[in-house]
Amino acid sequence: MDFSYSPKVKELIKKLSAFMEGYIYPNEKVYKEQLNAQESRWSVPPIMEELKAKAKKEIAMIKVVAPNVALKVIDRAIQAFGAAGVSDDFPLAAQWANARTLRLADGPDEVHKEQIAKLELRQYQ
Ligand SMILES: Cc1cc2nc3c(=O)[nH]c(=O)nc-3n(C[C@H](O)[C@H](O)[C@H](O)COP(=O)(O)OP(=O)(O)OC[C@H]3O[C@@H](n4cnc5c(N)ncnc54)[C@H](O)[C@@H]3O)c2cc1C
Repeated sequence: MDFSYSPKVKELIKKLSAFMEGYIYPNEKVYKEQLNAQESRWSVPPIMEELKAKAKKEIAMIKVVAPNVALKVIDRAIQAFGAAGVSDDFPLAAQWANARTLRLADGPDEVHKEQIAKLELRQYQ
């Protein structure tokens, strides 16, 4: 059996690595400094707001992709487990419900897709 990544997964890993190296790793030190300088641990360090503004599109994309991929994976596992997969003997049914909830709780998929489309089209205005 071949367990190597497909070309699509390799491309996604490359994109994610580029994103981490471009935005996350260089700002880790600033994040820790700002976090330590804050009186309240509950407030968000300014660098987080800065990065969030830069990664609006990627955030909307991951909010659509991650729960949908998780649902597909869990659904396949349920199928492999047969009826036991939908029983309380295994956590799969609860995990499916949790992943399904994510497609609503932080805004429905449609709203994130609309946000992605708006941000994408804005580049060409
Ligand atoms: C577990 C859980 C935790 C939550 N926590 C929070 C929270 O902490 N804070 C908070 O503010 N809210 C929270 N919510 C609410 C959540 O944000 C809403 O349930 C969600 O935004 C969908 O709104 P709604 O349920 O009123 O459905 P509706 O707005 O009635 O949407 C129903 C369906 O209509 C479609 N739809 C809706 N809007 C659009 C659109 N603009 N374009 C195209 N189609 C659309 C989608 O298919 C959507 O699934 C939570 C919900 C859950 C289930």
